[in-house]
Amino acid sequence: MTVLALDIGGTKFAVARVAADGTFLDRAEHPVGQSPTATLRGLVADFAGPGLTGVGIGSAGPIDAAAGTVSPINIPRWRDFPLVATVRRFVPGVPVSLAGDAQCMALGEWWRGGRTSSSLLGIVVSTGVGGGLVIDGRPWTGRTGNAGHIGHVIVDPGGEPCVCGARGCLETIASGPGMVRWALAQGWTLAAGRPDARALTAAARGGARIPLAAFHRTAAALATAILNTAAVLDVRDVVIGGGVSAAGDLLLDPLRDTITERAGMPYLRDLRISATTLDRDAGLHGAAALALLAAGEPLREPS
Ligand SMILES: [Zn+2]
Repeated sequence: MTVLALDIGGTKFAVARVAADGTFLDRAEHPVGQSPTATLRGLVADFAGPGLTGVGIGSAGPIDAAAGTVSPINIPRWRDFPLVATVRRFVPGVPVSLAGDAQCMALGEWWRGGRTSSSLLGIVVSTGVGGGLVIDGRPWTGRTGNAGHIGHVIVDPGGEPCVCGARGCLETIASGPGMVRWALAQGWTLAAGRPDARALTAAARGGARIPLAAFHRTAAALATAILNTAAVLDVRDVVIGGGVSAAGDLLLDPLRDTITERAGMPYLRDLRISATTLDRDAGLHGAAALALLAAGEPLREPS
């Protein structure tokens, strides 16, 4: 049994043929290009072949899983783009499944990331903050396909307006741009170069006061959102991925400390917070898992 996994990012598309045990048979990656639809057609044509059981797609959002459409922010030509219907035309007769990229990251980390628990919360901290859930060994996508979207958990009701229309969402604080905005407002200056998340991380690593405080503030906001989510869902593992997570212990140490300090209920005291182990491949593994589940193939339990 072989499935095709597609990872639709804002700047590049990745594709892999994946065996039922999760092994990548081959893979490729392409920049989105002038015509995203042509790029997609080319990738699928190169990899699809006889014996394909299904296609799983993880896509940058917003997505509408029920309608099978996507509107990735960085691909302006795709607004309410019928991604599922389009891929179906490229591979007639093969079932196609779609989920958000952060949901695929969570599913991939749960399946192939060496975790041992039945339930996991995956969080992608990048230019935005996304998330996905695996509950009792199944991806949990919710009524509209948006379950796990932890970036819009409100952690500061009087806080900054969020792009979503609410105020004080986790994303306003913990995203790369949110952290940089706050640090600059506190008086952080950079001798040379662009003040972005990468520069902020380097400065924090060098011991600079404001950048370090920005990481502590992000850790505190993440801790609030994670503890509230875990209190409701009783997950054991929390996996952090995305560009900002490359800061590693700079983010994870204060996050773990804050969670230990604040956790009340016994089932929240043994939350395991870890960084992604699959990195960019997590999304492809998750997309493959989607296709396997849709084909009725049970995912091997992590062992
Ligand atoms: Zn929001």
